[in-house]
Amino acid sequence: MQNTDPQELLKFEALASRWWDPQGEFAPLHAINPLRLAYIDERVNLAGARVLDVGCGGGILSESLAAKGAKVVGIDAGLAPINVARLHAIASNVEIDYRHTTVETLLEKEESSFDVVCCLEMLEHVPDPASAIEACSNLVRPGGSIFFSTLNRNLKSFVLAIVGAEYVLSLLPRGTHDYKKFIRPSELDGWARSARLSLSSITGMHYNPITKRYSLGDGVDVNYLCHYSAPDTL
Ligand code: SAH
Repeated sequence: MQNTDPQELLKFEALASRWWDPQGEFAPLHAINPLRLAYIDERVNLAGARVLDVGCGGGILSESLAAKGAKVVGIDAGLAPINVARLHAIASNVEIDYRHTTVETLLEKEESSFDVVCCLEMLEHVPDPASAIEACSNLVRPGGSIFFSTLNRNLKSFVLAIVGAEYVLSLLPRGTHDYKKFIRPSELDGWARSARLSLSSITGMHYNPITKRYSLGDGVDVNYLCHYSAPDTL
């Protein structure tokens, strides 16, 4: 599979059965989901929109987008996560088109066919994030929206996202993230601009270890979430 790292995929394959346990290894994704869904929902009209969820994993975001009335296609390079997503959608009685593929491959048949593309918490797991961003840009229709989220790369993000989250607080399994693959907002923006996208907004995603709550707000030095717009003409 194009632009995939087998070692990265294995991490998610191994834990896939735990995806929907709100107290399990993916607890942080469950905790941040209402925040990121609200961020997206405030910026695009989800009802009736054709939405692509790239690197959807077990489908936490996909199902919440579908609940807002979006027609969702979810793709993931991991087979176990996509199977978990398929089974969970049946149990939840939601219709989502899940496919075991990558953005680059999907582009071969779905160019410019989505109103909205979401690619959250995935770019830091792929060998060539610029290629994934370019493919996302070509999958969205003119004037459409793309949402990316990932982790910034600096001393603070190393201390909080790796030492803190994986070793001190055990919010995530050790080895979930590789510091070298973290992406600075300026790097993301450079790749997005090369893919003809323009930044509409960016926000930080923060964790308070005392209250154990996440919030969106200023400060993009650790987790961040951004909204890009595609040009109105091809
Ligand atoms: N986006 C989801 C899951 C994030 S976990 C969420 O935020 O809730 C990262 C997911 O990306 C995993 O399911 C992993 O299998 C997937 N992934 C990693 N590399 C990928 C690639 N190149 N193409 C598609 N999916 C990929």
